[in-house]
Amino acid sequence: MSREAYQVPSLGGGNAFSADGGATSTEGGPAVAYLCGECNARVSLKRGDQIRCKECGHRVLYKERTKRMVQFEAR
Ligand SMILES: [Zn+2]
Repeated sequence: MSREAYQVPSLGGGNAFSADGGATSTEGGPAVAYLCGECNARVSLKRGDQIRCKECGHRVLYKERTKRMVQFEAR
């Protein structure tokens, strides 16, 4: 699990966290980061969320790749 997937958008002020502590929705699981195929915006979705860009409404999202490089050692 990457730390980036756990970022909570703190925009919109006011009540940042509700007081029920910890994981509120039990349905989802960890959010997965996707990239919009249209505007390249980063969208994080949980299971059960609609696959849709929150910026432009595009419905094709690509799973964000880990930045880890895979190297093969030639023998
Ligand atoms: Zn988009």
